[in-house]
Amino acid sequence: MTTKYVYLFQEGDANMRELLGGKGANLAEMSKLGMPVPNGFTITTEACNKYYEDGETINEEIQAQIMEYLGKLEAETGKKFGDAQNPLLVSVRSGARASMPGMMDTILNLGINDVVAKTIADKSQNPRFAYDSYRRFIQMFADVVKGLSKKRFEEIIDEVKAQRGIKDDLELTAEDMMTLVERFKEFYQAELHESFPTDPKTQMMEAIEAVFKSWNNERAIYYRRMNDIPSSWGTAVNVQMMVFGNMGEDCGTGVAFTRSPATGENKLFGEFLMNAQGEDVVAGVRTPQSIDQLKEVSPTAYEQFVDICSKLEHHYKNMQDMEFTIEGGKLFMLQTRNGKRTAQAALKIACDMVDEGLINEEEALLMVEPQQLDALLHPMFDPEALKKATAITSALPASPGAGSGQIVFTADEAKEEADSGKKVILVRLETSPEDIEGMAVSEGILTVRGGMTSHAAVVARGMGACCVSGAGDIEMHEEEGYFVVGGKRYNRGAWISIDGSTGNVYGEKIETVPAEISGNFERFMSWADKTRTLKIRTNADTPRDARQAVEFGAEGIGLVRTEHMFFEGDKIKAIREMIVAKTDEQMQAALNKLEPMQQKDFEGIYEAMEGRPVTIRYLDPPLHEFVPTDPEDIKELAKEMNISYDELAQVISGLHEVNPMMGHRGSRLDVSNPGIAHMQTAAIIKAAINVNKAHPEWNIEPEIMLPLIGDLKELQYVKKMVTETADAIIAQNGVELTYHVGTMIEVPRAALLADELAQEAEFFSFGTNDLTQLTFGFSRDDAGKFLPEYYDAKIYENDPFSRLDQKGVGKLIDMAVTLGRQTRPDIKLGICGEHGGDPSSIEFANKLGLSYVSCSPYRVPIARLAAAQAAIKQK
Ligand code: PEP
Ligand code: MG
Repeated sequence: MTTKYVYLFQEGDANMRELLGGKGANLAEMSKLGMPVPNGFTITTEACNKYYEDGETINEEIQAQIMEYLGKLEAETGKKFGDAQNPLLVSVRSGARASMPGMMDTILNLGINDVVAKTIADKSQNPRFAYDSYRRFIQMFADVVKGLSKKRFEEIIDEVKAQRGIKDDLELTAEDMMTLVERFKEFYQAELHESFPTDPKTQMMEAIEAVFKSWNNERAIYYRRMNDIPSSWGTAVNVQMMVFGNMGEDCGTGVAFTRSPATGENKLFGEFLMNAQGEDVVAGVRTPQSIDQLKEVSPTAYEQFVDICSKLEHHYKNMQDMEFTIEGGKLFMLQTRNGKRTAQAALKIACDMVDEGLINEEEALLMVEPQQLDALLHPMFDPEALKKATAITSALPASPGAGSGQIVFTADEAKEEADSGKKVILVRLETSPEDIEGMAVSEGILTVRGGMTSHAAVVARGMGACCVSGAGDIEMHEEEGYFVVGGKRYNRGAWISIDGSTGNVYGEKIETVPAEISGNFERFMSWADKTRTLKIRTNADTPRDARQAVEFGAEGIGLVRTEHMFFEGDKIKAIREMIVAKTDEQMQAALNKLEPMQQKDFEGIYEAMEGRPVTIRYLDPPLHEFVPTDPEDIKELAKEMNISYDELAQVISGLHEVNPMMGHRGSRLDVSNPGIAHMQTAAIIKAAINVNKAHPEWNIEPEIMLPLIGDLKELQYVKKMVTETADAIIAQNGVELTYHVGTMIEVPRAALLADELAQEAEFFSFGTNDLTQLTFGFSRDDAGKFLPEYYDAKIYENDPFSRLDQKGVGKLIDMAVTLGRQTRPDIKLGICGEHGGDPSSIEFANKLGLSYVSCSPYRVPIARLAAAQAAIKQK
């Protein structure tokens, strides 16, 4: 049976997203609902995958199907490709399964050639429109299909305007447009050594191929990696009859959201431009009118549009983002999709829709991307500091949040400066998809042009970055490295602050304050907590971090990295004394200094956690991390420690290892230096006894975790040090204290022998950072150097250190869980590697029935929501 690669809109529906892509499936669904959608067909994502399988060629079978469906489209519309009487023009657009705004390419007005342009001019009695469409088509085709620079086309337009002594594009006449068409064609011919294709079928096939190709352009790949979209999905291509928003004053085009994407307010929100084509609104070149004004300009179309918006929102049970065109006063829907929104808006919409009875709490939980919550957890401007600041200009509040940073004018500069640790605000005339990486590293984005739906606004909201757009008062002198506003000059590198919630821009640095969970956020999170079964702990090494995590909803600490406490003040001195100790006495003296300091650290953490469980991990890194490498620093330290430079230098060089991460670290330190395990045990047990005395109701039960264990005998050996010390101290104090000893599963051998380890370990915590490192054999510190080439070659699509490799590392975890439970059915299981805060890894943890995941404090709310979503999906 032959595969069907092409579907008319009438043949599909919203459930066919995988095959037809989001745009295609929704166009089909709107057609099915009887909404005014221009006719068209969709070439499937399977055709895109086949294109790549066949070595980047559209095979004959697919070409034949496309031609067959073009015939059907011609029959449906009564128009014909290239026809001198009634020509058909189409748009060719990409449409992947997940929406990737602005990431891929679109071509409008396809099907125009000299004959067709003349026909359109005659029929529409509007030659300016006909030749405007023609020149736009040449521009887009040259850019998208042939990769010619857009800039030269803009320059040609500027040259023609200069010759005519006009400033505005709208002043260009029909004759000017014809001149542009000719000059564009000449440029095309000169650059490519071929003439511009006149056969619409050739134009279409080349455009379809370009859309397939755009699936693998750099910005699409980057967007996919940022959003966990696999390359195997492919993109569909939609070929749709053109309707024209630029045919005259009763024509127009716009985009709208059923609710505000910035605040979530339940009110139609959008923008339109009369006598314009879609790209004009999105590119932000002309400043559009608000959707409410459409009521006056085109009342019938407005009424119909409002009705369609409401129907679509009820149908999809989600806020919709729509594109429409009005041709001769008649409304056409070109797209609908679930709208991207800020985190604040997402929560408000979710809560409001539950209150309106449109969705239930579980549906509401599934509507918000866990990662999005991050935007709510970051600092806002300190209200006091803000009062003292005066805005230098104000524009559109395109994406909320507060950002303070130094001015940069290009995405590349943003990346460079951010890499060197600076905070930057990216100031652009307008942004384009090439700017995405620079936007991602900026504290905020400020654009001179563009509305609430401009590229900058949409992308910033998606990223959770703050953005102010359309700041038309700013006069840019980007090349010279400054801008002017209110008569004052702001140079590259100067500090500015932007408030994406109010649209204000300040010419100074403004201090920020931490966020808090309240209102809709609090209500929403309470639904998440009710729904999830997985517990969420945090990785915290200080009372401050622990308190922050509790505020964000942490239910315990899954990992205290004790070494992090060793770097401050007197502790680093004591640990260095321990490292250089030559005799047992010297060693013991150093440990005796460390113990009370550690005890105090642990007391602080127990107090901050107010009785919630705390897992403390024993000293883990190789000892060389605690000593200096620079000769000057060694000299200074030797003086401080009262030993000779040579002696200290010798100790330090003795610590050198070829592979320190696979070297003398983790429990191996305790096997060589039992004093460390004894000291850390004493500190933990004494701290717990003390805090329990003050707060008997907390009933602290210390959880002691041994790192990097690889064998049962090793575990028994170190555990014995722990229990001997702990039991002796408990007996000495004459108190009751239950404590637990467990192990991390970080080396593959531990996972393979987990049934044996479970004889001694009361709990396992998967240290997925090391487990990933040792399973792949990738250094966690250096893999970033070569992984990009693996992404390019599509060998790996994600960084396995951020997103758990379920296939390989996950198999080891699954095995260890099964083996561990065989020996000890009630063994407590958790993840404390970085993956503990990653939604897809959390889903995996939930599937295995782990007890908890542990992540950094700022990821706790994200993990709470991800765990709730995992529970719902797994029902
Ligand atoms: C781990 O390896 O996953 C872990 C949590 O330990 P660390 O990152 O401290 O090595
Ligand atoms: Mg580790």
